[in-house]
Amino acid sequence: MSALTLRAHHLLCALGYRGLGYDAAFARRMASRVRLLRRGEVLVRLTDTVDEVCRRCPHRLGEECRHAPGSQERVRRRDRQVLDRLGVPPGAALNAREARRRVRERVGERELAAWCAECPWWERAWCRRGLAALRHDPCF
Ligand code: SF4
Repeated sequence: MSALTLRAHHLLCALGYRGLGYDAAFARRMASRVRLLRRGEVLVRLTDTVDEVCRRCPHRLGEECRHAPGSQERVRRRDRQVLDRLGVPPGAALNAREARRRVRERVGERELAAWCAECPWWERAWCRRGLAALRHDPCF
């Protein structure tokens, strides 16, 4: 089984991903990882550090997120909140189906709002709709 490494909060971004991003290289990378996740036959190593998506992000500098002042601490805190909620330590690997099952069963609108309301993409509500769709159809 192939494997990918994702910051834990990127599992949530993937819920409503619609092909946009910070630039074309980022969007291509994100889209390919979302496809793998949705297919389910992949091992996902969940981290609180720079991942495969960040590697194509124009806001990454070395091993840090420099999206905005304080981003590095903010995204890491979000990753850890998601890891705690999913019940896995940083660096643990789950089958993608199991990761998505845990998101479906353990993450609600309240958590998304608490963690992600400051995200620049929040107003579009794609992640909230994606979560609702995942609840309705586990294969989404
Ligand atoms: S904004 Fe930060 S956390 Fe998000 S992909 Fe870019 S480097 Fe990674």
